[in-house]
Amino acid sequence: MSTPTHDTPKPETPLAREMKAVIAANGPITVELYMALCLGHPRHGYYMTRDPLGLAGDFVTAPEISQMFGELIGLWAAEAWRHLGEPSRVRLVELGPGRGTLMKDALRAARALPAFHAAIEVHLVETSPVLRGLQAATLEHSGFAPEWHDAFAQVPDGPTIVIANEFFDCLPVRQYVRGREGWFERLVGLDAKGELAFGLAPAPEPALKRDAPEGALMEFPASQIIAMREITERIAHDGGALLVVDYGHLRTGYGETLQAVRDHGYTGVLDAPGEADVTVHVDFAALAQAARMAGGAVHGPTTQGEFLLNLGIRERAAALREGAPDKAASIDTALARLIDMETRGMGQLFKVMAVAHPAMPLLPGFDRRHDP
Ligand code: SAH
Repeated sequence: MSTPTHDTPKPETPLAREMKAVIAANGPITVELYMALCLGHPRHGYYMTRDPLGLAGDFVTAPEISQMFGELIGLWAAEAWRHLGEPSRVRLVELGPGRGTLMKDALRAARALPAFHAAIEVHLVETSPVLRGLQAATLEHSGFAPEWHDAFAQVPDGPTIVIANEFFDCLPVRQYVRGREGWFERLVGLDAKGELAFGLAPAPEPALKRDAPEGALMEFPASQIIAMREITERIAHDGGALLVVDYGHLRTGYGETLQAVRDHGYTGVLDAPGEADVTVHVDFAALAQAARMAGGAVHGPTTQGEFLLNLGIRERAAALREGAPDKAASIDTALARLIDMETRGMGQLFKVMAVAHPAMPLLPGFDRRHDP
């Protein structure tokens, strides 16, 4: 997700037209609602209408780079299942499974542990009809009959292992800007020409007391925290673990991370609602705190590079090279990309964190654990 900003004039999207009419009639909307509509509007939402993944789409994700990613996560899940006491049924849940590639690779790798493979029930949480269709096609010959859900709450109770790669970044945030008299919520309204424009609520938010220099911007990931609490409560009650992989930071800070990506490059957040992927960087400190408060033990977080190296991605790459010497160069390129620890490299920008039942020992890939 790192290429230059495009600078071409954009025609008004259907979603922009609809939002402008709503704002003209009712007044500005929150950034949170703007982001939710950009991604999830039933007719015009970005994920509702297209497959954004891959070279022909807008961005490429780790499971689409190499089968190694999903395979190692499948083996990670097998280890989590062993630590759960090897229950005879376990829900393997993926949040936002994209094309279904990660799940397909994970299920294949899970065959290495037949008792785990036999225990798995596949549940996919996905709102996009287009991507549900692709997931069904990808998993057609997996030997599993996945069940789809609109939300995690619909997944039946019981021991649960949840995987979320590039999912939390899609859950909308509220933004606040520090003014002289307090924090003002950032809104999307209309400028003098009737175009979408950022503005601030007329009055400060009395409940926000945190001090910061004037002009500081704070993102509050309310919907991410709610999702984290919900999953953690299930895990703490029924047993299980959640693996979160996403771009983001380990410490809570100030500053805008809301971004829009289209055609492998950044574009303005307000430029093409419904036709660009509008996401945020994930605040892992906030998610970790939410998980601990809901009764979960937090493993990590660490960088994606460290996590994959700890799980043995180099050894897996070597085995794949041996099996297919003609593909050695592309295997090496994919490996380098997944563990790239340069500042903007995937191995460094992406972080991995697990949340597990407090009785579980340290899970593979991590070197530290924080109890609730
Ligand atoms: N995990 C995949 C896809 C990441 S893109 C991969 O790594 O390739 C984000 C995914 O989350 C898409 O499948 C999108 O449709 C889904 N999604 C976004 N918001 C969602 C929501 N609120 N509920 C369920 N799924 C959502």
